[in-house]
Amino acid sequence: MEIKITKAAVLKEKPDSSTLGFGKIFTDHMFVMDWNCDKGWYNARIVPFGNLSIHPASTVLHYGSEIFEGLKAYRRKDGKVQLFRPMENIRRMNNSAERLCLPQIPEDMALEILETFVALEQDWTPAAEGTSLYLRPYMFGNDETLGVHAVHNATYVIIASPVGSYYKEGINPVKIMIEDEDVRAVRGGTGYAKCGGNYAASNRAGQRAELKGYSQVLWLDGVERKYVEEVGAMNVMFKIGDEIVTPMLSGSILPGITRKSCIEVLKSKGYKVSERLLSIDELGEALENGTLKEAWGCGTAAVISPIGELCYKDKKYTINKGEIGQTTQMLYDTLTGIQWGNIEDSFGWTYEIK
Ligand SMILES: *Cc1c(COP(=O)(O)O)cnc(C)c1O
Repeated sequence: MEIKITKAAVLKEKPDSSTLGFGKIFTDHMFVMDWNCDKGWYNARIVPFGNLSIHPASTVLHYGSEIFEGLKAYRRKDGKVQLFRPMENIRRMNNSAERLCLPQIPEDMALEILETFVALEQDWTPAAEGTSLYLRPYMFGNDETLGVHAVHNATYVIIASPVGSYYKEGINPVKIMIEDEDVRAVRGGTGYAKCGGNYAASNRAGQRAELKGYSQVLWLDGVERKYVEEVGAMNVMFKIGDEIVTPMLSGSILPGITRKSCIEVLKSKGYKVSERLLSIDELGEALENGTLKEAWGCGTAAVISPIGELCYKDKKYTINKGEIGQTTQMLYDTLTGIQWGNIEDSFGWTYEIK
C-alpha cells in the first residue's frame, strides 16, 4: 500500500522521562486514512500531529460510532523497539468494527500501517524503566449528516504518546468498590467491543467510587448484577484456594490481551485456571472464609494492578493484608520482562520494529 508521508517542519523536543504521565504528550506525527463505502480505504497518510477537522454533523459526535485500541512500543536494553502481540490488537479492532458497523481493515494492511508509523516515530520510545510509547489507533464514523444509518464514511487515525512508568513509587495495591447500581455493558450490547461509548457509560460509577476514596469499581453483570465482570477498564482475576478464576468472555466483557497472556503464562506454569461465571456470593464467601488469596486487574496500561481492598455494600474486606501476592507478582514480572525484552519470549509474543 502507499502511505504518503509529510514530515513535520520542526521536530518537538523529547520530554524528560520523569515528566511523562499518561497520554498528555504526543509525538511529531500521526497516521490518518479515510474510508468510503464505495471507494474503500483511501488517502493513507502520515502528517504532522495536529487537530482534525470534522463536519459539525459528523456521525461520531452525535451517535458515538467510535472504536479504539491501545498497545505499547517498548524500548529494549539493546536499543531496539518492540511491540507486544500487535496482531491481537488488529484482530480485536476488526471485531469491534464489525459490532459497530464500522469498516474493517485487512490484517496485513493494518500491520503495515502500524509498523510504518512506529518506525517513523520510534525515537519517541523512552528508555527509562517502566516507560513506553503508547499507541492509540482509533476509528470513527464520519458521515456529514444527522440521519441515523450504518456508516458510509469513516476515518482511521493512530496517535502516539510517550508514557511514564505506571508504578513510580512501587506497586501499590488499589482499593476497589463493588458497583451494584450502574452497569458497564450487557450481553448483546457492545461490552466485548473496545468502543468509546462503553467508557461514557462507566464514568458515573467511576466518579462516585473516586469520591468515596476508591480508585475503580468492580463491575457486575448487566442483567442480574450477580456475576463479576471487570474492574474499571481492566479484566479481573482472583486466586481462590489454588484456583485462578477469571470471568468467562460472555459477550459483555472486553477480551483483554493482557488477560489472555496472563492465562497462557499461568497455564504454562502449571496453575489451574478457570474461565467461568463467578458470582458475587461466591466471592463474598471466599472473602469471609479467607480462601480468597489474591485479586488483580490486568490491562495494557498498568499490566497488573493488585487489589488490596474490596468494598461491597459498605462492608470492607482486605485482601492478602493489602499487599501484592506471589502469583500477582509473578505475572507482573513475567509480562513486563517479556514486553521490555529482559526475559526470553518463549511464547513468540514480541514483534521487533526494523
Ligand atoms: C482495553 C480494555 C481492557 C484491557 O485490554 P488489554 O488488551 O489487556 O489492554 C479491559 N477492559 C476494558 C473495558 C478495556 O477497554
